[in-house]
Amino acid sequence: MVAEGFEQVAYGHDAGTGLRAIVAIHSTVLGPSLGGTRFWPFASEEKALVDACRLAIGMTYKHAAAGLNQGGGKAVILGDPAILRSDELILAYARFVDGLAGRYVTAEDVGTTQADMDLIRTVTPHVTGVSEQRGGSGDPSPATALGVRCAMRAVAERLWGSPSLDGRHMCVNGVGKVGAALADHLHADGARLTVADVRPAATQAVAARTGAAVVSADGAHTVPYDIYSPCALGAALSATTIPELGAAAVVGSANNQLATTQDAQRIHDSGVLYAPDYVVNAGGVINIAHEKGGYDRARADDHIRGIHDTVLRVLDLADAEGITTAAAADLLAERRIEAARMIKRTGG
Ligand code: NAD
Repeated sequence: MVAEGFEQVAYGHDAGTGLRAIVAIHSTVLGPSLGGTRFWPFASEEKALVDACRLAIGMTYKHAAAGLNQGGGKAVILGDPAILRSDELILAYARFVDGLAGRYVTAEDVGTTQADMDLIRTVTPHVTGVSEQRGGSGDPSPATALGVRCAMRAVAERLWGSPSLDGRHMCVNGVGKVGAALADHLHADGARLTVADVRPAATQAVAARTGAAVVSADGAHTVPYDIYSPCALGAALSATTIPELGAAAVVGSANNQLATTQDAQRIHDSGVLYAPDYVVNAGGVINIAHEKGGYDRARADDHIRGIHDTVLRVLDLADAEGITTAAAADLLAERRIEAARMIKRTGG
């Protein structure tokens, strides 16, 4: 906690339901900490704690770079949701979150569902990503896709002097919830589209709507596109794939695209412009942050379009400081947190 500057790590236990949960609150400098609840059969309590803490730090940076007045937090529930999950356990977890009195606001993550968030809402207001019927914002994927499109326009502006994607050759690798919505945007923008996915049904559906070309998922990164967009799993950019990249830029929704921290320098040195993942894919968190005080999609979308300017700021900072774009995103976030910390300290 001390080394990473954590404010609070809370353990929750409920004997009746078997609930064991950890909430890691990294920072509330910018506002209440926000982050999803991961329900996962961790190999050990220590691994669960490490994951919660690592993910909470990531949320602090993501929110700060996105200009949100939210801090970073993350929760884990230990166990296999297929075996352990019950409504009673989720309600016990909701009481645990409620006990943190708003210092941590939860949301959906791997292993939890929107229905779980709706159930949590019956106990505590400190939950986002609830269904539209309950006044929430629903599935965040269209918002994430909109943000990725805005990031691509910023990168196009930087590389080719115009944000227009008309006629640009774009590849979306992974056409699930975000990737398919992104492909529709790019098609509407007049881009030349190539898609890939390990599920043939997913690429077929997008190709039928948009006329996209289909390539195999494992070789998709090698083709000379204008922009390559990893929208599937993490670690798409590695010592193996970076030298093989055919595109001028990488702008995708996938989390943790860089396999290791050294890959930030590796892609920088390769001359491929990398738009940092957590800046590009912030549309989802911006969207749920707008649930506070009544969700308004138009207002949320306006805020998401700000990702365009954030990406340009990151690219400018990287140039000015002579650092990688990944380091520039971190620096942008750290500067914003530090400024807020100073204001709090001086009471200004
Ligand atoms: P999803 O599960 O709906 O889609 C993922 C797609 O990737 C699926 O169609 C799957 O078949 C495909 N896929 C899996 N392995 C692949 C591989 N090796 N090569 C190519 N395709 C592969 O997920 P999603 O919600 O669309 O999220 C996509 C990515 O964006 C994830 O990394 C997620 O963490 C990240 N993300 C999503 C959101 C959101 O709002 N949904 C927000 C931020 C970040």
